[in-house]
Amino acid sequence: MASSDLVLLQGGTLIDGTGAAPKPNTDLLFSGDCILGVGAEATQGAQTATAQGSALRTLDVTGRTVMPGLIDAHCHITFGEPSSNDELFFHRQPSTAMLLAAFNVPKLLRAGVTGFLDADCIFDLGPALRDGINAGIVEGPRMASGMNALLTSAGGTAGRLIPDSGTLGYAQVVGNRDEMVRLTRQQIKYGADWIKIHVTGSLPNQTGEATVWSLDELRAVTETAHALNTPVLAHCRSAYSTRLAAQAGVDLILHGSFMDEPALEAVVEAGAALAPTFTFLANLADYGAKVGAGTTQVDLFRGEIQATAAMMLRAHQAGVHLLCGSESGFSLTPYGHWHARELELFVSQIGLSPLEAITCATRNGALALRMQEGSVGVLAKGAAADVLVVDANPAVDVSVLGNRANLDYVFSRGVSVDLTAPWPTRDALPGEQVGLWSEQLLTRDRAEANESGATQ
Ligand SMILES: [Zn+2]
Repeated sequence: MASSDLVLLQGGTLIDGTGAAPKPNTDLLFSGDCILGVGAEATQGAQTATAQGSALRTLDVTGRTVMPGLIDAHCHITFGEPSSNDELFFHRQPSTAMLLAAFNVPKLLRAGVTGFLDADCIFDLGPALRDGINAGIVEGPRMASGMNALLTSAGGTAGRLIPDSGTLGYAQVVGNRDEMVRLTRQQIKYGADWIKIHVTGSLPNQTGEATVWSLDELRAVTETAHALNTPVLAHCRSAYSTRLAAQAGVDLILHGSFMDEPALEAVVEAGAALAPTFTFLANLADYGAKVGAGTTQVDLFRGEIQATAAMMLRAHQAGVHLLCGSESGFSLTPYGHWHARELELFVSQIGLSPLEAITCATRNGALALRMQEGSVGVLAKGAAADVLVVDANPAVDVSVLGNRANLDYVFSRGVSVDLTAPWPTRDALPGEQVGLWSEQLLTRDRAEANESGATQ
């Protein structure tokens, strides 16, 4: 279908993404990447166009829900679903990582994701992938991209795998204030839509993640980026780091774990947005055992979700924008499977209504894409034409959005995505996975044990 085609979705129940009540029997008209009308204006616009001889594609979507496409504010499209940091940092090549990203990114569209933010990519591949999507070389959603995440020499979540200086995988280590300023400018030169900072990291002999940036260092990045009209987002898995990030002017805070009163106050005062990203933790806690994941920390993760969720509700009530991010890109969050789970967790854990959760995954996502609120993620005249037709009622139960079988149509920039082709599958690339000699030590006792496990 050519992008200039005029499309009328007729008779559906419309959820517009703003949190307004669903409107039954409401038409939607769009052409290319622009919504031309909603309701009576759509119906009349379609009649006028037909009278003038324009080609019109009319789809009867009676009984179906029409809503904006999902915007995933936390997705790692270049990681390629690794099952460990070792695999992510040492078993990836730039060329094959890019091929893999191009292979994986159409899965997002197939899952109803029409926009996403990839905040930190390996080998700085993100901007090129984004440009390839925009140029029509690769089929994919609207994408906003960061480059390498900025880390201090204390590292991030990968401990000593992070080098003391330089780059590895998604990490760019910045040793001092001058480097923070220089790398921020350099990333913007090479096309970064966002600058990402890992404000917390895991250190030996410390529980949880420690804050490994100072306020002054964070400000070096935010002031430099903002001067070049570029927003900053930050990985913060503690109350103190969340507070510092907000005070430093960070625009979007990922995780915001264990927020306390001062942190919440700082976030509200700064007008920062939050993307808690519960999906990865929840997947590990709920299903990790099914795929052989280490489950010793399950209670810890459940505790982190619960403690954080209560404060997220208060942030929401104070007017802070919450965004849905799935952290897709790991073996526990493969592409195309879990993008909508964050909405379920916003309902079950934070206590939002399904319509509020939908707003977090649609209208609020405009920030992640660096677009004006109201210009994407909503169904309104003049907004972008990213539209889902769902054969279920997400206003009652958002979990229906996680089942691809419920998606009758996905329109990305006004063009309908082919949902009929088989789901893409592939074989492993050479050297892609960590190979183990064994899972246990071959002690003599184990070698000599009989079938039942008893030693002879
Ligand atoms: Zn992440």
